[in-house]
Amino acid sequence: MSKFYITTAIAYTNSTPHIGFAMELIQGDCLARYHRLVGDEVFFLTGTDEHGLKMAQTAKEKKTTPQKLADTNAAHFKRLAEFVEASNDDFIRTTEERHKKGAQKLWNKLVEADTLYKKTYEGLYCVGCEAYITEKDLVDGLCPNHKKPPITFKEENYFFRYTKYMQEVKERIEDGRLQILPDSRKNEMLGLLEQGLKEKKDISFSRPTKDLSWGIPVPNDPEQTMYVWCDALSNYITGLGYGEESELFNTFWPANVHLIGKDILRFHGGIWIAMLIAAGVGPPKAIYVHGYITSEGQKMSKSLGNVVDPFETGKKYGVDALRYFLLREIPTTDDGDFSQDRFMAVYDSELANNLGNLVSRVLTMTQKYAEGKVPASSKNEALETRVLETWKEYQKNFEQFNLKGALESVVNLLNTANQYLEEQKPWILAKTDPSAVLKTLYHTLEILRHISLMIMPFIPATAQKLQDGLNWHGTKLYPDNINWGILKEGTQTQKLPSLFPRLESKEDAA
Ligand SMILES: [Zn+2]
Repeated sequence: MSKFYITTAIAYTNSTPHIGFAMELIQGDCLARYHRLVGDEVFFLTGTDEHGLKMAQTAKEKKTTPQKLADTNAAHFKRLAEFVEASNDDFIRTTEERHKKGAQKLWNKLVEADTLYKKTYEGLYCVGCEAYITEKDLVDGLCPNHKKPPITFKEENYFFRYTKYMQEVKERIEDGRLQILPDSRKNEMLGLLEQGLKEKKDISFSRPTKDLSWGIPVPNDPEQTMYVWCDALSNYITGLGYGEESELFNTFWPANVHLIGKDILRFHGGIWIAMLIAAGVGPPKAIYVHGYITSEGQKMSKSLGNVVDPFETGKKYGVDALRYFLLREIPTTDDGDFSQDRFMAVYDSELANNLGNLVSRVLTMTQKYAEGKVPASSKNEALETRVLETWKEYQKNFEQFNLKGALESVVNLLNTANQYLEEQKPWILAKTDPSAVLKTLYHTLEILRHISLMIMPFIPATAQKLQDGLNWHGTKLYPDNINWGILKEGTQTQKLPSLFPRLESKEDAA
């Protein structure tokens, strides 16, 4: 058994959750559940990033304290994780004592390694990015991400000797010790490092406490507060208890994968890796970068009124339908679109028809032709081969973080099963050859058993219902469940309420 540690980025608590973070949670959850399915020991971490100037400013606007703002919004993010059925093992908040302790320990390690120094710095700072920004990155004098002018800062800061580690970070990415996926993001990161090696600029790691009090104090220097990125990034180790002697940390670090959005690649693929090397902690194995979601073909914005609320969509169509759409329709490593029409089309054709209808037909016919009992085990070489091939394709896709590809192989198997039923026509066969009907039923029930395992990472609640219908329960592929012929003769199955009621009727009812 191997171990698998996966993290999402932590969500910033100056606002409430949107569909983009829901997607990241669901992608992370899907990977975590897959690894549990194949028998790995999994730790899945998510959480919230709660410090920084932006939090202090938003709190002021809302006439509250940063802590209260953080508490309120962190609760929303926690609720989102539960709502989408994320199976995270922990939820780390950067205002927690355990996090502060760990972040300060990491800081001390960086001091011991002589990688931090103090100097006076003057530069342009974007509050939205929580980062310094160079003149040449500005577009018409504004930060290209936030469309706001930067502030000029002149102050004494601690700096991290990033330049000392850039070459090593670059080599690790080049030789694959650190995987960055997809390739386009790997190349982007290598480009940033190459540029960094020419510019030779270290990174500011703290700010004067008089300008930034909402953060973690620098150990032994209360005049300085940790820069928010240095604070936030360390959640990946503090969430495992890095601040204390921790069995969890020893077991699960280094992370197998950090799941992130493309806007924070340079922090994760560069600075974080350098920090870990410098502190002697050891870098993660992979960084997987997902794209953004647009809505009805456009960037989501309040003024356009096209913001997709994950709670609303999940309540209306079901959480599994939401999970399914995001994993099926948004390319795993690229941008994708959320449109109402597309959502309903995918729901009807794939969930209501291809999956829901198949399950309903097979379980109903089992009642009708076999008194609801699983018939005697029966071989079918073509179908067995087909199932085995699907498992291979499915696993290969998962190992490459291609969730959409893995789900596609399941959809193809569902097509095969539907086609097989159409060819066999058990409802006609019943009049002429009852024993052939029993074989057909066994074959399709057995395929449904495989499907129930395959969909577990994607739509876990539906997988559970399907297994209830089959009266067979399994959560691991090995040693036996991946084989053919596991359903036992005589097992009493049961009919299920429609897994995915058609949307027209749902719409009518609403
Ligand atoms: Zn910005």
